[in-house]
Amino acid sequence: MSDTFNAIVFDNVDDVKKGRLTELSAADLTDEKVHVDVSYSTVNYKDGLALSEHSQVPIIQKPPLIGGIDLAGTVTESSDSRWQAGDRVLVNGYGLSERHHGGYAQKAHINPDFLIRVPDAISLEQAMAIGTAGYTAMLCVLAIEDHGVKPEDGKVLVTGASGGVGTVAISLLSSLGYDVVASSGRVAENGDFLKGLGASELIERDALSRDSKPVEKETWAAVVDCVGGKTLATAIAQTQYAGIVTMCGLTGGSTIQTTVIPFILRAVRLAGIDSVMAPLDLRQRAWDRLAEILDLNKLAEIYSIEPLAKVPELTDKILQGKVKGRIVIDVNA
Ligand code: NDP
Repeated sequence: MSDTFNAIVFDNVDDVKKGRLTELSAADLTDEKVHVDVSYSTVNYKDGLALSEHSQVPIIQKPPLIGGIDLAGTVTESSDSRWQAGDRVLVNGYGLSERHHGGYAQKAHINPDFLIRVPDAISLEQAMAIGTAGYTAMLCVLAIEDHGVKPEDGKVLVTGASGGVGTVAISLLSSLGYDVVASSGRVAENGDFLKGLGASELIERDALSRDSKPVEKETWAAVVDCVGGKTLATAIAQTQYAGIVTMCGLTGGSTIQTTVIPFILRAVRLAGIDSVMAPLDLRQRAWDRLAEILDLNKLAEIYSIEPLAKVPELTDKILQGKVKGRIVIDVNA
């Protein structure tokens, strides 16, 4: 077998961020206790931001770095007693493609503390079809459940519905019996798809992405917000008494203008959701629950598989809001 392997390296070339397909060897990787043959990674909005000149938060902190914020594969070597050759593992976040080499490579050396065991019920391909976006959707749903919101309490809004977090959130919430309303800028194009995943109602992006009053008609028992900006402010103003807004994304902007009114008059809870440094027990809980409740037939509708070489093109496309559902990267194709 060849000593070299393929990788997409994210770099700053003449002050321009670029992703390029290249060949590396094991000596190019950092020295970590667990070695993994990577099968799949994915393209997330954050992978797009990593190559964007407009990102407010620098993502690649130590260029050049192998890109890709997540990966799934099989352990080939381990000097950590928790992991053995043959174990099926995945990594979400933990600074992959920020401070550590990421998943866009056929091989990875990983800190054992970052690894999650892939649940038996799902394949490596399905694990990455879920990926960081789907696991983040699960973190949002867990926050909603932990807050005590039940299906009979009212409608749940999902914004940025056609994307990775949105599609998995709709599938999960509808499987749990929630009445899901999907907000999308692509209702005409993706409406049937979103209804097929379990949305009972669709609303246009513009209905929320506007200036809002401090409080508006109480409409949502809970919200999964992937968009931020004016959309988030309007969603907060429309959340019913003691409801919860889970906030994970910024595709519509990172600035929010709201007031204290929904929080002090309606006891609305605003819950920030972070997948990158979430503690291990929460991650494991999220993955175990995904394996338990995610409808794998619906998951099959959500994703497509693309080869490693297409990553730079796909990171552009996701920033333009042109991706539907999830993109799995087959690093060996
Ligand atoms: P995607 O690009 O797959 O989906 C985002 C969706 O947002 C799009 O499909 C689109 O949905 C909508 N959208 C795109 N552009 C705009 C815009 N300008 N205004 C309003 N809506 C827009 O991204 P992901 O699902 O992977 O991620 C969603 C967000 O969550 C991102 O901001 C990402 O960075 C964040 N995220 C955060 C994590 C965390 O740990 N907190 C982890 C994972 C993701 P439609 O066309 O239906 O309107």
